[in-house]
Amino acid sequence: MQALYTLDFATPDSPEMNFCSACGQPVVFRIPPGDDRERYMCEHCETVHYTNPRVVTGCLATWEDRVLLCRRAIAPRRGYWTLPAGFLENGEAADEGALRETWEEARARVVIDDLYTVYSLPHISQIYMFYRARLTRPEFAAGEESEDIALFREADVPWQELAFPVIRETLEHYFHDRSRDSYPVRSSSLIVDPSRRRGWG
Ligand SMILES: [Zn+2]
Repeated sequence: MQALYTLDFATPDSPEMNFCSACGQPVVFRIPPGDDRERYMCEHCETVHYTNPRVVTGCLATWEDRVLLCRRAIAPRRGYWTLPAGFLENGEAADEGALRETWEEARARVVIDDLYTVYSLPHISQIYMFYRARLTRPEFAAGEESEDIALFREADVPWQELAFPVIRETLEHYFHDRSRDSYPVRSSSLIVDPSRRRGWG
């Protein structure tokens, strides 16, 4: 199990690197030949250490007219409510990751209907993907990273206690779309002032 978000708020763009993971020699941070941006590169073994955005994948899971939310047991935003989500693992499909995170955080088994929201967060180099999903049974329990799990009707959603803007936006889209029984995939970028990086939400 991998802690969600913990590294990312502290290291939004490129995690600092001092030594080459291939040969152990010190690395330099400069533009490789033929490239157009700085990378960590090793002048000893000539490895270029690329870092690219990471994917967070999760589920907007429902049971009848209620949505499943998890109260976070870990920083950041401990005590605030979120959709079950986490970092995609290597070798894993995006929907598989969403199912896995829903099980790990909420001990809930769901069936995915379709991709629903995709958010680019360039200020922290993350892509969020949420799937619409249905619980197969109204059974759930707090996983290691959650202190509480609950189903909420629209009127009862703790809007002032949601952990992240992408959670609020996804829920707002969902209740709007549900009233029309039409769920187009929604994709957007959330641009946040870097100086407020640690305070957004
Ligand atoms: Zn090296």
